[in-house]
Amino acid sequence: MAANQLATVQAFLQGHPTVKFIPPSSAEFTTAREVWNGSRPDKPLAIVQPQSSEDVATLIKFVKSNAIPFSIRAGGHNLEGRALVQDALLIDIRALNSVTVADDRQSARVGGGTLQGEVVKRLWSEGVATATGTIPHVGYFGWASYGGYGPFSSKWGLGVDQIIGATVVDPNGSLVKIGANDAVLKGIRGAGGVFGVIVDVTIKVYPAPSLLAGPIIFDTSDITKSYTDVNTAYNNLLDTETLPPQLTLQRVTFNSPRGLAFAFLFAWSGTEDELQEGQKWSEKISSLGPAKMNMVKPTTIPEWISGAGAHVPRVVYGSSRTYNVSSITPEVAEAIGSNLAHLPADAGAMFSLHQVRGPSATPQVHTSVFEPREPHFMLEILGYSVTPEKQSDSEAWAETFAADVEAAASSSGVLLPTSYVSVYSAAHSDSANEWVKKVYGDSTDELRALKATFDPENVFKFTVPSLE
Ligand SMILES: Cc1cc2nc3c(=O)[nH]c(=O)nc-3n(C[C@H](O)[C@H](O)[C@H](O)COP(=O)(O)OP(=O)(O)OC[C@H]3O[C@@H](n4cnc5c(N)ncnc54)[C@H](O)[C@@H]3O)c2cc1C
Repeated sequence: MAANQLATVQAFLQGHPTVKFIPPSSAEFTTAREVWNGSRPDKPLAIVQPQSSEDVATLIKFVKSNAIPFSIRAGGHNLEGRALVQDALLIDIRALNSVTVADDRQSARVGGGTLQGEVVKRLWSEGVATATGTIPHVGYFGWASYGGYGPFSSKWGLGVDQIIGATVVDPNGSLVKIGANDAVLKGIRGAGGVFGVIVDVTIKVYPAPSLLAGPIIFDTSDITKSYTDVNTAYNNLLDTETLPPQLTLQRVTFNSPRGLAFAFLFAWSGTEDELQEGQKWSEKISSLGPAKMNMVKPTTIPEWISGAGAHVPRVVYGSSRTYNVSSITPEVAEAIGSNLAHLPADAGAMFSLHQVRGPSATPQVHTSVFEPREPHFMLEILGYSVTPEKQSDSEAWAETFAADVEAAASSSGVLLPTSYVSVYSAAHSDSANEWVKKVYGDSTDELRALKATFDPENVFKFTVPSLE
């Protein structure tokens, strides 16, 4: 079956030389197949690299009419490596790499395969910026469409909130423009890949801010105590002061070249005149505990993001766990801190905590299917290793960590019912239906109805999420 399908693809592509064809027999196949999660075993039927939206449209018509299974790959940073599907044709859209700022400088059109680092650099060179994540190699659309937590979420909102239009290759292989009045836009904001190939997306952009950013690193000689004490001080700060919208904080713990690091990633984006206030906030965050180093400094978004990306390995082996909680209670902090004391000494094992507040946490039920929209913390327990041999150690650590956090969050009444699609592993639910419900919560029925209207035959089947 697969051999026949491969021959069919090869014969078709002889008439379409602009689409690059990489069969399993090619010397390039191993590199072209590589995604962030190296433990994904699936081997695609072959890899094709379309060079334009028209190439993508031609490919979708072809795979549909020949019933050839296929999947889409952009940045390859889905945490489970879900772009790879056994014996499915992998359509790698990284050549759709473009950023065009509109004349009114309020929006930009971004190619569906553009990586975040490229988006940030190209916008910055034109004096504008938008919400992004911190890792440059992640696909921009994959980041934004599924939620998009990042260092500007308190100021501009989440990634989903930036999307105002898209061009989609639909299930018939037609190029369709989606605008603000099209019902499916709401589904693209939260579940982008299920409706078609997004060959470009139109997003909001803003005047480039003055940025103060960097890690504030705390002592880790007793990580449990450090984590719980800093958390208590931070909760006191939240009780006594309102954090300004210019400030977004992410807490991370990882193995740096100098050993275990626990840091608040501080990002202050405002006007030139507001930098002094930002500096005061950096000192306030430093004083939450025994800070070893405050590396916050004036910088640019491209520089900040490329620095953050340098700490994350390009290929890892393992799996992730995630929870949304409404606050980090002392019990939850204790569960986190005591498990960080056993963080495997491996660059792939990490823990991160995003805080969602301000414009990211306003009820926007009519504009996206992303959940939750209340203020919350999103916990990422990253049970990965940089070597396959140590994968099981990292996963065992993550499993215990997750169980402890879940118990502490449940007993202190802060566990929220939904989980983040990009980090929630398929292995954590009994069925695909349960998985979708866990991610989309009250928006599940609406998402399914949009899918049934836009892709009634489920042509886009191997997608994130998977809507059986
Ligand atoms: C190291 C790392 C750091 C991360 N940091 C953050 C973070 O700070 N904040 C956050 O919110 N998330 C973060 N994520 C999660 C990340 O945003 C998602 O996994 C995202 O979906 C990855 O997109 P991609 O294009 O790189 O992935 P891929 O694996 O290439 O794509 C995953 C799936 O998305 C769909 N897809 C992607 N692009 C398109 C398109 N143009 N058209 C149709 N379907 C498409 C397809 O179904 C595809 O199979 C991080 C992930 C990693 C591995």
